[in-house]
Amino acid sequence: MHSWAIRVAVLPDELFSTWLARAALAQGCDPMYLTGWLWPRWRAWTVDLDRGLSPDRLATLAARSGLTAARLEAATLRPLLTAVAPGTRPQQAVWPWVLSQGSRNRRRYGGLQCCPSCLSEDQTPYFRRTWRLAWHIGCTRHGTLLADHCGRCQAPVEPHRVRAGDGTLCRCPSCGHDLRGTNTATACTDALAFQVAADEVLVTGQGIWSTAKVDCETWFGLAAKHAGGRIRGQREDATLVCLTKLSLNLQRPSERVLRLRMAYRDMSGEPRGEMLHGQRRTIASCGAVVPDFGLQHGQQRQFARARPQATVQGEWVRLLRRMRVGHP
Ligand SMILES: [Zn+2]
Ligand SMILES: [Zn+2]
Repeated sequence: MHSWAIRVAVLPDELFSTWLARAALAQGCDPMYLTGWLWPRWRAWTVDLDRGLSPDRLATLAARSGLTAARLEAATLRPLLTAVAPGTRPQQAVWPWVLSQGSRNRRRYGGLQCCPSCLSEDQTPYFRRTWRLAWHIGCTRHGTLLADHCGRCQAPVEPHRVRAGDGTLCRCPSCGHDLRGTNTATACTDALAFQVAADEVLVTGQGIWSTAKVDCETWFGLAAKHAGGRIRGQREDATLVCLTKLSLNLQRPSERVLRLRMAYRDMSGEPRGEMLHGQRRTIASCGAVVPDFGLQHGQQRQFARARPQATVQGEWVRLLRRMRVGHP
């Protein structure tokens, strides 16, 4: 079995499926063409490839790519699942803490986020494995919310649908917009702190919840419980963000921010209460720049009626100054 022409290394924390798409572009072909060549009679992009491959398909890919099966497997989400929820069967429809893509043929409904600034700064733009995780809502490097939709046409982020001529994974396959030009709001510091804490638990295999030392699985179980349920907060939460009854795996970053902030306060042992989710903190935390939420036009109008945008913006900027959080 001969390998493909140009060897493409998996970059640090690179997400498996997007590495495969990047490898296709490097060979000068569409991702769909490459997978058809690798695995004839299997429509690879209709499934969530980041859940891992069967042993025979993995062996084929290893032989063709020149990389080891272990390296390829490490780029999937399986190792994360083993650590966070070891009791989960791989065939299970939803994996805890993994954003659900949902798919119709090759099209996705969501499930992948990105930091446009990180992509801009990358020498070779690539998608991180952590951008598939429900507890990742922002970029700790840039302090901004992750984007899960194209800034121009609002289509989900779908780098696997790029075409050979695009030359980069950053081009929105639906409208051609460069994702690196997508604006994102400043992320909530509490939600980001939760994200960092969760990452540490994943690395060390243990963490502190309230005052108790617990293992990784228990910690994430508690986190899921505390991030679920009704949002405790003032009404401003509801006017700024589309609150849904969807599971965490299906929520957009702007809603998960509220959930993770709630979990963070429980994890830290801080008292609950309306005052903790007061108006100013809420506005700062969630970002008041309406287009950054990716709301549809009707929702934006609804927002504008609910609160004058200038008022919200003013409060937001004042609070950002007080918190010493930068903003674009
Ligand atoms: Zn970033
Ligand atoms: Zn687009």
